[in-house]
Amino acid sequence: MEFNNKKLTRTTTFIHYVISILLAIFLIGMANRIIWDIDSEAQRPYIEDFEAKTEAKKYKILKRSILDSINGQEEIKEELQLSLDLAQNTLDQEQASFKTWISTRKATQSSTINHEVERRNYIMDSIRFSLKELKSEQLVLQSAIDALQLEKNKHVSAISKERSKANQLYIDAERSYDFKVFISRLLFVIPVLLLGLWMLLKRRKHAYWPLFRGFVFFAFYAFFIGLIPYLPSYGGYVRYAIGIILSVVLGIYAIKHLTSFVRRKKEELQLSSVERSKKINDEVAEKALENHMCPSCGKDYLINEIYQSGKGKNRSGTLKVTTYCRHCGLQLFKECKSCDTTNYAHLPHCYSCGDHIMEK
Ligand SMILES: [Zn+2]
Ligand SMILES: [Zn+2]
Repeated sequence: MEFNNKKLTRTTTFIHYVISILLAIFLIGMANRIIWDIDSEAQRPYIEDFEAKTEAKKYKILKRSILDSINGQEEIKEELQLSLDLAQNTLDQEQASFKTWISTRKATQSSTINHEVERRNYIMDSIRFSLKELKSEQLVLQSAIDALQLEKNKHVSAISKERSKANQLYIDAERSYDFKVFISRLLFVIPVLLLGLWMLLKRRKHAYWPLFRGFVFFAFYAFFIGLIPYLPSYGGYVRYAIGIILSVVLGIYAIKHLTSFVRRKKEELQLSSVERSKKINDEVAEKALENHMCPSCGKDYLINEIYQSGKGKNRSGTLKVTTYCRHCGLQLFKECKSCDTTNYAHLPHCYSCGDHIMEK
């Protein structure tokens, strides 16, 4: 690899991110495995399990048997209807044939004829009688069927009552199951999240920070994807409460951090400029030089010769580099002891002769 500092920095950053992301991906995969095991399909409650605990099955069997007997009765009724139709047909035919026969024989009054009339009447009467019998049988059957229907309806409503009981049991079980799963997730995610936050706050300067950052990515994933969507809602109270707590905690941390940073900076400014200049590291010094600002107080050291203020930049006038910071008094530039070239005072060597500039 060519030793180009900017390129090297970029490549290093890239590789560090690849390391972080890879680690995060594998950690997430592992965690999904664990969480998936917690919430396995086999343990989930199903409505059928709860129907088995109620009387629904008994009523279903009763209903089935009543339906069977209703079907049987209906079949008998159909058969009866067929016999009824047949009898009715026969009667109609007998009556018709009797009518024609009697009209052709009106004139004669023989005893054989009387006998024939009696015979035919007898046949018709017996058919009428069986018709009556069949009809009353049909009525009895119908009332039996009606009674069975009533009983079936009773069972149907009992079944639906049992079903709604089972449904209630199922809803309760599902709620407590979801809660159990949530608690398991919580117990898994909270330590991960706390560890991640600790790493984020305390391990940023560590040589293995890319690995720690991988864990931090994973911790955020676990919290936002693995836990938040499973929060029991209770009408949104829990979610909003967690949001409030998080904003307050993070807010307090950020404010405290910023305040202590500002205080530290102010305290630093109280030190002598020699002391402060010793505390400036190369990285800060380089960045400050690039952005023409004082490495101690962070203010611009370029001045407009005419206005002596950074605000008149767009008016004419040349920019001048100041030897000392106008805001905190830190020495910014100094002469090399060997060659008298003016050098930035916070990088190690003279750009002209290479001699040491800083006495650190
Ligand atoms: Zn300054
Ligand atoms: Zn020099």
